Amino acid sequence: MRPAAPALERSAAEPPAATVPVVAASQSPDAVMAAAPAPDAGRAAPLDPSLAADPALQRAHAVLARVPLVDGHNDLPWTIREYKEAPGDVAAYDLRAATKGHTDLPRLRAGRVGAQFWSVYVPGDRPAGDMVRLQLEQIDVARRMIAQYPDDLALALTADEVEAAFKSGRVASLLGAEGGHTLANSLATLRAYHALGVRYLTLTHNVHTDWADCAVLPPRHDGLTAFGEEVVREMNRLGMLVDLSHVSPATMDDALRVSEAPVIFSHSSARAIADTARNVPDDILRRIPSNGGVVMVTFLPAYVSQAAGDAREARRKARAEAAKLADPAARAARLAEIDAQPQPRATLAQVADHVEHVRRVAGVDHVGLGGDFDGMSAVPVGLEDVSKYPHLLAELARRGWTDEELEKLAGRNLLRVLRAAEATAQRLQAARPPSLATCTPASEDKREP
Ligand SMILES: [Zn+2]
Repeated sequence: MRPAAPALERSAAEPPAATVPVVAASQSPDAVMAAAPAPDAGRAAPLDPSLAADPALQRAHAVLARVPLVDGHNDLPWTIREYKEAPGDVAAYDLRAATKGHTDLPRLRAGRVGAQFWSVYVPGDRPAGDMVRLQLEQIDVARRMIAQYPDDLALALTADEVEAAFKSGRVASLLGAEGGHTLANSLATLRAYHALGVRYLTLTHNVHTDWADCAVLPPRHDGLTAFGEEVVREMNRLGMLVDLSHVSPATMDDALRVSEAPVIFSHSSARAIADTARNVPDDILRRIPSNGGVVMVTFLPAYVSQAAGDAREARRKARAEAAKLADPAARAARLAEIDAQPQPRATLAQVADHVEHVRRVAGVDHVGLGGDFDGMSAVPVGLEDVSKYPHLLAELARRGWTDEELEKLAGRNLLRVLRAAEATAQRLQAARPPSLATCTPASEDKREP
């Protein structure tokens, strides 16, 4: 069973991610092997044959040889958990060969991914009593996956470890938790997740918690409750990044007011370009420079293209209507008909538009990338899988971005945020003990209508 809330990355209204047809890496033009242009990037990466004829693509590859491309969000651990042939079996879901999803080792190499936040996502619609177990299981899947490929992936807990992994030619592998619902209202649980390696927490997924409002439901708390503010402060004390993707603007506002460290949006785009609740409004973008954080632009078509977003919403409504049909055969036929309708595509150029908008409003020091590969069913034209990042950087190079600006986008901004969070944690741990605050849902609900 998949999450049922509207407008989410993994919607019940969409086919599973694994059905996306992806050209096998061995057949992909990106997978033609050649010598790496810069030996300091570690092992040779498969290069694009169009490289020789494309100076912008050459620049992109050169940038990504110098600076790790840090992507904010990839749902591969969930794909592995849901793998039909062998659920949760990291050996069976073989990343050395072409997978059916968006991510495998050859394509990570081709895309020159230097560091990846692997999402340890848990759906928000599971029974409350299962949440901590599910979160631990997802952390376990991700850590087993990383351990499975010691020559290719390296667990990274700090910015220094990201850079060391990159220098050794491995993909620095960070863990990001998606949805404060798995805390089960406990700061001890938060601390345990941090101890297990989790380095960001998205305060909500597509459900409210007892202490924070998400983006896609009518407001319940009008942002963060007092306990929600304490969650942010304790994350600051631990050195866990506060991730504001998926939360409501009021929650973004409260978190920006309370947080003592830079925040991130691990996978959100610009609301001024695609008006969806999952994107970041300009008034929030304008507040990011004083916080020091970074908005990692996501590729999910419904958040990139207004037409794709509108079409997805229309399809969601049509499916909900179809689900009411009493006759099972008629219902199945109608659902099949709806699913067969072609959807508008988003494009790489539109993703570049979001990146440029965030740069224009928040500044070049506050933009990054968070693709959401393996977490979306449709993909933009030109950004079909993790092998395509150099093409996005090449597009921006053609639009006039300097190498220094591309380096900031690729990874320097996120590494700066990670280091700032580590320094804040060191300071706060010397200043105050672990928080013993508790959440009492009834009093947290004071604003509920
Ligand atoms: Zn998400």
